[in-house]
Amino acid sequence: MREKQRVLLFAAKLGYQTRSFEEVAQKLGVDLAYATDRCHELKDPWGDGAVAVHFEAPEAAAHTVIEKFRAARVDGIIAVGDRPTIAAAYAARGLGIAYNHPASAEACRSKLRLREIFREAGLRTPRFQSVPVNPPAEPALLGISFPCVLKPTSLSASQGVIRANSREEFAAAAERIRKMLAAPEIRAKKEEDLSRLIVEEYIPGREVAVEGLLIEGRLHVLSIFDKPDALEGPYFEETIYVTPSRLSGDVQREIVRCASAAVGALGLTRGPVHAEFRINEEGVWPLEVAPRPIGGMCASALRFVPEGYGETIGLEELLLRHALGEAEKVPPRETAASAVMMIPVPRSGILEGVEGEQDARNSEGITDLQITARVKDLITAWPEGSSYLGFLFAKSDTPEEAEAAVRAAHGKLRFAITPQLPVEHPVTGRFHKAGS
Ligand code: ADP
Repeated sequence: MREKQRVLLFAAKLGYQTRSFEEVAQKLGVDLAYATDRCHELKDPWGDGAVAVHFEAPEAAAHTVIEKFRAARVDGIIAVGDRPTIAAAYAARGLGIAYNHPASAEACRSKLRLREIFREAGLRTPRFQSVPVNPPAEPALLGISFPCVLKPTSLSASQGVIRANSREEFAAAAERIRKMLAAPEIRAKKEEDLSRLIVEEYIPGREVAVEGLLIEGRLHVLSIFDKPDALEGPYFEETIYVTPSRLSGDVQREIVRCASAAVGALGLTRGPVHAEFRINEEGVWPLEVAPRPIGGMCASALRFVPEGYGETIGLEELLLRHALGEAEKVPPRETAASAVMMIPVPRSGILEGVEGEQDARNSEGITDLQITARVKDLITAWPEGSSYLGFLFAKSDTPEEAEAAVRAAHGKLRFAITPQLPVEHPVTGRFHKAGS
């Protein structure tokens, strides 16, 4: 019997997206093997060739994977989420599989390297500096004017990203980030450079996200998502993504040119790309580029129509086929407009309950609603937070209608959140947070 094709999936989170990959792998008759630091969450962690790794030590993680699969068939590698991309790149190199170079993957994980590379490539880059968290130098001394943005070097999902319009706001933001980076939950992630911040000038303008697929070094844009809510800070939690973009053809072509130049400058050559850009009268500014697909559930906002298939396929199927060396031709997205809302966290506290789910689901144009926050869990608002309450999806004839549909459905949802109040411990008399 012919040995099954095998794809290695590097994933820090197990959930919706990895389940989608599993379903597609089953459909295509492909063996999916995990490299993950979440082996304890797998049903059969040691049975299916799942490898337990620590992504904060990417070369060691890659070594473990290479040892395990040295003599086995491996046809392709996919990484989902930011953290596993570097280990995936090292493992690919060791196993002789076409993938991005580790240095390129590493550059994408550092907001400082990204800025340096974009600036060197002549792409629009705000003035920026890397400074110690404690204490950071004043923007004026760094040659940076207000408004500016402070951000940790290697976190993602806008966690810890804060806009400051004045010296006072700058000092308060720096202190807030310093506290956040000292918290045990963040320390546990063992990210690099937790002692430094990036300070950069604020880029006004609208923002888009680009989903792309690199085939032999050439970027194929799968979709441009408009972000119709103004993202002006002070925190930058995402909300709505809508595709197709309503920007003019000229601006969209400029975005594609900028995205291609950015991935070229980073030396990325293969696989999924998720990138963010700001657009203003000066032109298109790359904010960040990552060699991975759009996060978790949002991917289901995208369906593609491969020629001669008769049915649409999801992003995971496209990526799995590409990892196997198929999908040399990138299929177009379906014609319907599609919107997804990452349901914002209005305030930190304990989620006591959610009302209106059925109403929201039945709302016109809504194709799905997933509440991902769990009742009785502590939920954290931005900038300290990084997880949404859930995701709302809509399809419609036009992007305007799709956007209106997720807004209307969101208006039907009610989240009961009790703030965490400091309460006195009955025995020690010390204050602690209720519900923690
Ligand atoms: P992350 O990887 O955590 O998402 P980013 O650097 O992409 O971090 O920043 C997150 C968001 O913060 C961006 O999508 C954008 O909305 C906002 N942002 C970051 N830097 C700037 C900047 N210099 N000017 C304006 N907005 C910014």
